[in-house]
Amino acid sequence: MPSKTQTTLNYARIAVNVPHVQGIFDYHLPETTKDDFRLGQLVEVPFGRQSVQGVIVDFPEKPEVTQTKAIQKILDLTPVVTSNQIELAHHISRETLSPLGLTLLAMVPAGLSVQADTQYCLSPTSEGLIKEGQALLSEPTPSQTRLLDLLIKRGSLRGRQIDRALPHKNWRRTAGGLTRRGIIKSHSTLADPSVRPKYERQLEFITDQESAREQMDTLAKKGYPEALARRQAALELIMKEPDPVPLSVIYEQAGANLNDLKVLIKKELAKIIEVPVLRDPLSGLDITPQEAPDLTPAQQGVWDSILEGFQNGSAKPFLLHGVTGSGKTEIYLRAVEETIAAGKKAIVMVPEIALTPQTVTRFMSRFPDRIGVLHSELSPGERYDTWRLARHGALDIVIGPRSAIFTPFPDLGLIVVDECHDDSYYQGDMSPHYHALRTAITLSAISGSVCILGSATPDVTSRYQAERGKWNYLALPERILAHRESIQVQLNQAGSGPSSSRYQDLDDNLLVADLPSANIIDMRTELKAGNRSIFSRELQEKLASTLDKKQQAILFLNRRGSSTYIFCRDCGYALRCPRCETSLTAHFAEKELRCHLCGYRRNIPHTCPKCGSQRIRHLGTGTQQVESALKELLPNVRTLRWDRDTTRKKGAHWEIMEKFSSHQADVIIGTQMLAKGLDLPLVTLVGVVLADSGLNLPDFRAAERTFQVLTQVAGRAGRSPLGGEVILQTFDPEHYIIQAASGHDYEDFYRQELENRRELGYPPFLKIIRLEIRDRNPKTAEKKASVYAASLKGWIEQEGYRSTRLVGPTPAYFSKIRGEWRWQILIKGPNPLKLVRDHLPSPEWIVEVDPPVIL
Ligand code: ADP
Ligand code: ZN
Ligand code: ZN
Repeated sequence: MPSKTQTTLNYARIAVNVPHVQGIFDYHLPETTKDDFRLGQLVEVPFGRQSVQGVIVDFPEKPEVTQTKAIQKILDLTPVVTSNQIELAHHISRETLSPLGLTLLAMVPAGLSVQADTQYCLSPTSEGLIKEGQALLSEPTPSQTRLLDLLIKRGSLRGRQIDRALPHKNWRRTAGGLTRRGIIKSHSTLADPSVRPKYERQLEFITDQESAREQMDTLAKKGYPEALARRQAALELIMKEPDPVPLSVIYEQAGANLNDLKVLIKKELAKIIEVPVLRDPLSGLDITPQEAPDLTPAQQGVWDSILEGFQNGSAKPFLLHGVTGSGKTEIYLRAVEETIAAGKKAIVMVPEIALTPQTVTRFMSRFPDRIGVLHSELSPGERYDTWRLARHGALDIVIGPRSAIFTPFPDLGLIVVDECHDDSYYQGDMSPHYHALRTAITLSAISGSVCILGSATPDVTSRYQAERGKWNYLALPERILAHRESIQVQLNQAGSGPSSSRYQDLDDNLLVADLPSANIIDMRTELKAGNRSIFSRELQEKLASTLDKKQQAILFLNRRGSSTYIFCRDCGYALRCPRCETSLTAHFAEKELRCHLCGYRRNIPHTCPKCGSQRIRHLGTGTQQVESALKELLPNVRTLRWDRDTTRKKGAHWEIMEKFSSHQADVIIGTQMLAKGLDLPLVTLVGVVLADSGLNLPDFRAAERTFQVLTQVAGRAGRSPLGGEVILQTFDPEHYIIQAASGHDYEDFYRQELENRRELGYPPFLKIIRLEIRDRNPKTAEKKASVYAASLKGWIEQEGYRSTRLVGPTPAYFSKIRGEWRWQILIKGPNPLKLVRDHLPSPEWIVEVDPPVIL
């Protein structure tokens, strides 16, 4: 870990984090421990009347104040952030207008900064004495003996571990005395934050074979034969094994119980030891090691450029634009391999692990040993373990969602951002409002790492960066099907012939396939023809024939819940959340309506609260409703639903995926999640129930987002030699987004969308700052918003921001959240950041710089 030359250190600049005070303050280093200080350490400092924690961000030669206080202690000798991360934090803090302390805090695992423990071990002198067989104390007290024996037996221990080993004993006083006499050493350290470290109890064989046999004979003279057999089996087991054996294994293999083991312990044949084990979230997953395939010619071209980046230390990110199945992941794997070969580390970001299990599995199959996976189902302890392993350089790869960008790798060489257009890379719900894509680019420049940003549908801003040459642009235009042999195998399994015209030979063996083009179905025509079903006649036919052929289908819905707008067909009254003003969503299984913003619930009314009509039960379209409509249409269909409601349970994603890919269901019905990286060879039909939902949201990226999700979901069809078909049902068939999505025409979409952005003055042409104020009283929120907006207007004029405009103040699209009314102001301009930085609003304002969502 880099640090400044030790001799000149007198002062430290520390980012402290106390609620409401996030600032940088200078302290001096205590004379006696000066040499222990490093950049990035977590320390405890006096702050007002209290002690608070902070991170060392600099060692200034002179403090900014004349009077400095001393740092109280170092909470962990190993820095919690690297010096690159400190630089990154400065950058994020500047660009997102978030306090530096808060930004640094986002980089360390939750709970870390509030938990520190003391580590105890024997002093080097004591260790020397023990080696020479000498006593440490001439007349030790029982409590000294207990503590010293424990440290001799188990080595260095944390206070909390000693608490467990010596319960009800006041060992801390004893430890204090022994520390003063130089017999033991203690220093602060970070403990597991909110969970206890996990220990495994093991049985160790502690005598020799011969005396064991003897003892066994004396054992044989008493006790029941069955008990004896168990004890002998247990003993045999630990004698056979070179290392101590986990108790669970002994219980299972020898049929022994704890009492049996106690007998062995009493006879001094064995002892129980506690061994800390790192929690491994990946254990139990079936990973078959895999070799890297030869690259296709297109991949080779892409790889040559990236390799050049590795060799030259290119600071420009690579935008890897390739349709789903075009071989991007294979490129990432290559890049990771290259990184590891150079002795460096890789961060691989994926939008959400649970949705991309196949991508993760591929990384784990290629690099089984030193990979850490971060995902939402990990406990804080598991997260902490991964962080700790990475910090010590014990991992080569960390794969995870946006927070993975803060992995404290000492020697970073590669950052991959898969599906880099995904909004989940932005932290919108709390400060710092950072975007992991932008963060990745900054960090790669700071650390000299290669940065690969992959997407089938890059966001317009990213594509524009590449077009202007700020980024490198690499394309993989064709979908790789598979090797000829495996295609044959799949076809044989499916029992049908391929539509061979779809394939082109790539080389001797590899085949590529065209993307299936989508059929646009005009739902207005369906209505006119008297079809009131949510499925067009064409989709109905295709669903039936897919089932006949024993193939699978996906039905996609750009929504969640069982329906969105519950409204009265007679008077049009819509049920809304009383707290958020948002439409409530019906959940039939629970017979209730829910607000997805604040969690408000109520029962489903039988009659319209306004006009009393019974036709209030006519509902919009949700996954549950699609499912029942489908079952009405095809009574024997086996269905699965994949949405936020069916995936709440731990492990649910993997379960649903597993069921569907093992063909335990014919049709999967789902929302946005379905669009992610699934590879399902038997899927030959994708039906988009309503393609245009989402197009009309008041957000400058609504069109882009709709194009992306439609393209991704359409890409799920025909990843197999069986071919595939996509049906887009819409009420707006001429819309350029629907047209571009049906033809998989990214360039069409991009040109048109870029033109729209230019005209309307949105990114990438102008920057946006979104300011939001919330209040329980709508009038107050409005008032505060207009007061600040008026000031902004004044500054814009006085300071000559000629092309800068305000939008608003207006109520936000979701106008009320958790009982608070939201008002927003958008500032659009070439450099709104400077304007807002110069005139920061009060801390009650939420400030977002270039947020990807402005609803
Ligand atoms: P993407 O990440 O763009 O969706 P993948 O890397 O997953 O694409 O590749 C799609 C499919 O093609 C996968 O099944 C993958 O194993 C296979 N594949 C990729 N590259 C090669 C290659 N060079 N040789 C053989 N198969 C490949
Ligand atoms: Zn009504
Ligand atoms: Zn609500």
